[in-house]
Amino acid sequence: MFVWMQKKIIYVLVLMSCCVLGITGLQLYWNYKNYKTTTSNFARDSNNALNTAVDQEIKVRKGKIISKVKNWLADTTVFRIECNIDNRDSVTVFTIQDVHPRFLEDSTRKTSFNMGINKFKEKLKKITPEAKKIFINHFTSRTLKSNIDNGDVFYYTQGLGDSIDKAFESLKFNPDNFIKIYKSELAKRLIDVPFQLIKKPNNVSSTLVLKANTSFRRPFEREPIFVSLVSANTYYWKEMKGLIFTSLLLIGITIFCFYYTIKTLLNQHKLVAIKNQFISNMTHEIHTPLSSIQLTTEALKKFNPDPETTENYLDIILYQTHKLNELTKEILANAKLETLTFELNEDVDLNQLIWAVIKELREEDAVKVKYLKTLERAIIKGNRKHLSRSIANILENAIKYNSTSAPVIEISLVRTHQTINLTIQDNGPGIADEFKQKIFEQFYRIPSGNIHDTKGFGLGLSYVKKVIEQHRGIISVLDNYPKGSVFSINLPG
Ligand code: ADP
Repeated sequence: MFVWMQKKIIYVLVLMSCCVLGITGLQLYWNYKNYKTTTSNFARDSNNALNTAVDQEIKVRKGKIISKVKNWLADTTVFRIECNIDNRDSVTVFTIQDVHPRFLEDSTRKTSFNMGINKFKEKLKKITPEAKKIFINHFTSRTLKSNIDNGDVFYYTQGLGDSIDKAFESLKFNPDNFIKIYKSELAKRLIDVPFQLIKKPNNVSSTLVLKANTSFRRPFEREPIFVSLVSANTYYWKEMKGLIFTSLLLIGITIFCFYYTIKTLLNQHKLVAIKNQFISNMTHEIHTPLSSIQLTTEALKKFNPDPETTENYLDIILYQTHKLNELTKEILANAKLETLTFELNEDVDLNQLIWAVIKELREEDAVKVKYLKTLERAIIKGNRKHLSRSIANILENAIKYNSTSAPVIEISLVRTHQTINLTIQDNGPGIADEFKQKIFEQFYRIPSGNIHDTKGFGLGLSYVKKVIEQHRGIISVLDNYPKGSVFSINLPG
């Protein structure tokens, strides 16, 4: 049943590990994918926004050229616009004629230009204000616009060509206007980062530099502009830090829960093993005195022995009953250990207490104990009963586990700053480092050869620790040299 349970637990653990690994892996993968998409979208969108913004800025400049030309054509001191129907089909033909003397200086140049308008069906021999308006509109918004869109400057007349050329020259890229448009184009793409127009591309890795051409005249002279934005990585971090943090937090919580569950499971497992060991120990400990009492009582009843033997038998029964009684007390005391609380309202003289504990030991044990360093005044506030039980526990252990031919247990009491330090050292088997903490756990017994032969439930030191902690003290175990252990207790005093 136990083995089957163990197998089941292992399966569950493997499944849980797979799940946690899977969840963590998926989260990391998702974060990575998100990083890739966000950074590439950022680079693409900010570049698209730049091209759109440059196009719009150019469009504004083109519009300005067209409206300038419109004004010049309407100005009769610069151009004269006429019309006639002196042709084969008798359709109205419009003529633009340079008027300004500046344009007429060079006689080799063309100074007039004829043009018909398909949709204009009226037959006019003389220009009218309406017809002039229609012509200017048609010429600028179609013919001229299409030329400008292609980046061409046509010299329909010397004057028209010169004027358009100048207009192209005077209308340079407008950074302020561009910045406004670019900002709004970025906002449309939900990008809210600062940017800068720079003269030359820089090599700063923490920025993203984009390039666009702002010239619209053929042959398109390159008039590049460079825009510097935060790098895609910085942008990702700025936009996603909340998400990344939440995702990492979730991963952390999942791993912590997993760790906690495994720890609880293993603890449960350990507890079951400890409980089993305790039951087997206790059965043995109770069984021996009980059998002895049973046998002795049966002998008394059956053989009706002489008074001296009866006395001996009764001593045995008394001794074993006393042992059983002590055992029950120990178990009961430990059952209450979790809730063990007491007042620290007695003035306890540690010197007296230690002497009293030594006196309580069996004579053959007491000779092994040497109380070396004493303090003249070692009075602390505490609980006499629990303190003496604790010191007795440590001393009994030091004797119990010591199988050397000449056991020596030394006690000393030293004052350090605000504390009194009590040490009990023995020349027994010593305690390996890996068990130094564990021996203070309830039911814990060091699992090794000889020590197994020594009776006990693994309850003594957990009780001692609890009592010392209630006294706001600290207990620890160190190695004794060349052999054995040192139990060191620091008590406020
Ligand atoms: P118990 O003695 O009933 O087993 P304790 O809680 O008193 O329980 O001790 C826990 C374990 O610590 C013991 O099982 C023993 O292995 C070890 N131990 C305690 N004191 C000593 C000592 N002085 N020398 C060596 N081992 C010790």
